[in-house]
Amino acid sequence: MVDWHMATVAEIHDETDTARSLRLKIADWPGQLSGQHLDIRVTAPDGYQASREYSIASGASTDKDALVEVSIEELADGELSPYLVRGVEVGDQLEVRGPVGGYFVWRPEQTEPVQLIAGGSGVVPLMSMLRTHAAAGHPTPMRLLYSVRAPQFVFYMDELMKLAEDSNDTVMLDYAYTREAPNGWARSVGRLTRDEIVELSLPPSANPMTYICGPNSFVESIAMWLVELGHPADRVRTERFGGA
Ligand SMILES: Cc1cc2nc3c(=O)[nH]c(=O)nc-3n(C[C@H](O)[C@H](O)[C@H](O)COP(=O)(O)OP(=O)(O)OC[C@H]3O[C@@H](n4cnc5c(N)ncnc54)[C@H](O)[C@@H]3O)c2cc1C
Repeated sequence: MVDWHMATVAEIHDETDTARSLRLKIADWPGQLSGQHLDIRVTAPDGYQASREYSIASGASTDKDALVEVSIEELADGELSPYLVRGVEVGDQLEVRGPVGGYFVWRPEQTEPVQLIAGGSGVVPLMSMLRTHAAAGHPTPMRLLYSVRAPQFVFYMDELMKLAEDSNDTVMLDYAYTREAPNGWARSVGRLTRDEIVELSLPPSANPMTYICGPNSFVESIAMWLVELGHPADRVRTERFGGA
């Protein structure tokens, strides 16, 4: 049984109009690996409690005093995310449990090329992997394919660009917009297809480890295509955020 820790909201950063990052100071936090998540629990004045899982965006760390970042997309009809995106203020306290997960994890000791594939807020644990990769000055190629509704919904936009620029060509970014693309963008808007996965991801011959994260149907389609294309199933790791 893992204990709940008190977390104080130390910093808030708007990622988009409907999402924001909370940087938490968590009491007795043991640190985290890239790809792990935590549970956030909120208690209403009448005692009603709700908890949800959120991936950790911060890179891997063993520093007990480091702030831990989560990035939350508001689901307009959701129970908890509207409060976490609109209601929480700096200084507020939340309860947190974790870190959770040992499979959907990237460790700097891994030496194979890495393909990351994100759908919407599924970019969060993949950002942790990119941050860990950058902090280690890791020589392994790490390629991110980020499917997102429109440019204004991209999380971490400036930081992603800088990570790629500073990476000595080890980090590559590909964006696929599903509803609206920047002017002059070559790709038509729409959901990723199997053919685009061939074009925009590392091939089986590169023997990559692939991490896919996003809504259920996004993850299921892409994982199925990768296996059909010849990637061994145990080299395709998935994290599902729920939803359709
Ligand atoms: C391991 C894990 C990590 C996660 N990490 C993140 C994260 O980093 N950032 C983040 O914003 N969310 C993340 N989620 C999703 C998060 O846990 C909540 O499900 C989400 O915030 C909605 O909670 P809610 O209480 O607002 O909505 P609820 O009241 O729980 O649900 C409202 C409706 O939205 C649907 N729904 C739930 N989740 C999603 C989704 N992700 N996409 C589309 N529809 C959905 C439900 O099926 C339901 O119909 C993660 C989920 C898991 C399992």
